[in-house]
Amino acid sequence: FSSQELTRHYLDRIQRLDNQFNSFISVTEERAMADAAAADQRIQSGNAAPLTGIPIAHKDIFCTQGIRTSAGSRMLDNFIAPYESTVTANLAAAGTVLLGKTNMDEFAMGSSNENSYYGAVKNPWDTAAIAGGSSGGSAAAVAARLTPAATGTDTGGSIRQPASHCGITGIKPTYGRVSRWGMIAYASSLDQAGPMARTSEDAALLLQAMAGLDPKDSTSVDQPVEDYSARLNDSLDGLRIGIPREFFADGLDSGVEQCIRDAIAELEKLGARVTEISLPNSQLSVPAYYVIAPAEASSNLSRFDGVRYGYRCDNPTDLEDLYTRSRGEGFGAEVKRRILVGSYALSAGYYDAYYIQAQKIRRLIKNDFVSAFGQVDVIVGPTAPTPAFNLGEKSDDPVAMYLSDIYTLSTNLAGLPGMSIPAGQSAGRPVGLQLIGNYFSEARLLNIAHRFQ
Ligand code: GLN
Repeated sequence: FSSQELTRHYLDRIQRLDNQFNSFISVTEERAMADAAAADQRIQSGNAAPLTGIPIAHKDIFCTQGIRTSAGSRMLDNFIAPYESTVTANLAAAGTVLLGKTNMDEFAMGSSNENSYYGAVKNPWDTAAIAGGSSGGSAAAVAARLTPAATGTDTGGSIRQPASHCGITGIKPTYGRVSRWGMIAYASSLDQAGPMARTSEDAALLLQAMAGLDPKDSTSVDQPVEDYSARLNDSLDGLRIGIPREFFADGLDSGVEQCIRDAIAELEKLGARVTEISLPNSQLSVPAYYVIAPAEASSNLSRFDGVRYGYRCDNPTDLEDLYTRSRGEGFGAEVKRRILVGSYALSAGYYDAYYIQAQKIRRLIKNDFVSAFGQVDVIVGPTAPTPAFNLGEKSDDPVAMYLSDIYTLSTNLAGLPGMSIPAGQSAGRPVGLQLIGNYFSEARLLNIAHRFQ
């Protein structure tokens, strides 16, 4: 079948089914059909690459030229991006077909996708459950087969945790592996984009197209991109797996734990050798992250002032009123909370006590990983402590919400790659197995995931 037929199939599914999940903010039907027609021509002329004509959806945090890019916020509800992000440009150049832009927590702040101006995303496995966040729209859309794949971003777990809750595969690459140009900034020292897909094989193809040095992002890394598909079938014989004791402590759901233990036994059957390790400072990742990320966010979000672009309040009386009401009306509650926390942590008199202290903890967390990777090749554990919780269950309790990120945050603080793959169910809801690798070991993670799947 042609790309046009394939694209029509997914557009029809979105139209028929997405009212149940709310996974898309914008559906770009015309653009999709035009992309598909161009792809079909390339296929006919014998110039097809592996992703030519494959439909994809992008998290609405990536600027897409001429298309609304909202970041899940009222602030950017009217924002038509005037330029294209490197990630979406690379995927378009690889031949993908853009179906639309997916729902997300506002400015990627959240773990449940309940912080979106466009409403919560519902989990396709059980619509009473959250899809996870902040890339919940991408995860739900892939799980519901509304798109074969999607992009996500992960600042503290936002690719891995929704992938886990929706029973799909997602990888957050090493910090710097993928360009952040044109990706609306949340916490710049932690943000990283990656693919969300059904299988590791698909994720490998997508990451291949996304990754690489970009002169427009000074933190992107000048290191050749490996051929991720070539090593998918490598043997796991002798692979040294580390199981961090701290990831199996209080708060871990017993059904999740059972799935993870079964997965580890399966990896042993494939030839892996398992050792228990310790990441002694990992318990400090929640407080350190929830100082550093809001601090960076408070600075990044200062650009939304009602003057240049985005939401502007009606009839401002003076400049102060313009700023105050544009930001007051344009941002949601969680975003405001983080701007306040972040500004406080960065303010004179508190900077040393909070921000500097958090940066020191960040270094300790990184050092834990450096010493662990002296002993093992990969670290394995749960992605999230529980399966998807119910919509509304934690929305009044930010601290309970933040604790659901306990296993994912340390990876971002250290800049390491992390992946979540399906590993069974607890109470009828999907469970994700997390793989954490050393810097630039994406090929190895994809290989382990592929052998496991
Ligand atoms: N849940 C975390 C937060 O709210 C992580 C979000 C993310 O990775 N973008 O900050």
